[in-house]
Amino acid sequence: MTNAEGRGHNAPCSNRDFDFFYQGLENEQLLVQRCTGCGTLRSLPSPGCEACASLEWEPVELAGDGEIYSYVVHHHPPLPGFASPHPIALVIMGEGVRVLGAMDGTDPSDVKIGGRVKAEFLRRDTVAAFRFRAL
Ligand SMILES: [Zn+2]
Repeated sequence: MTNAEGRGHNAPCSNRDFDFFYQGLENEQLLVQRCTGCGTLRSLPSPGCEACASLEWEPVELAGDGEIYSYVVHHHPPLPGFASPHPIALVIMGEGVRVLGAMDGTDPSDVKIGGRVKAEFLRRDTVAAFRFRAL
């Protein structure tokens, strides 16, 4: 298992809020936060709940299925580990929370708002990652 700087993952940009997310990717789990005060799911990770202001939360694994809410196609600048152009989608997951993810590996012409996607796991060099694939 990778364990750069004792964090349990090799993601180059992380912090205390994001470490659980990247640790989940190491185990091929797509994790979001669930507020233990009110149950609201949130992604991107943050220290507090925007619904009830609680600072208490727990990680929850998503099933990985969702529907594209919106997307952009990234053309420039080139990103290490990504082919360009590649879509980036905001996906409404089956659990109701929206998750932002790359869709490299899917032709941009196959990406449609309302289209169904599934999360899949991969490594970008030494970093555990996920992306959405159009179904
Ligand atoms: Zn809450």
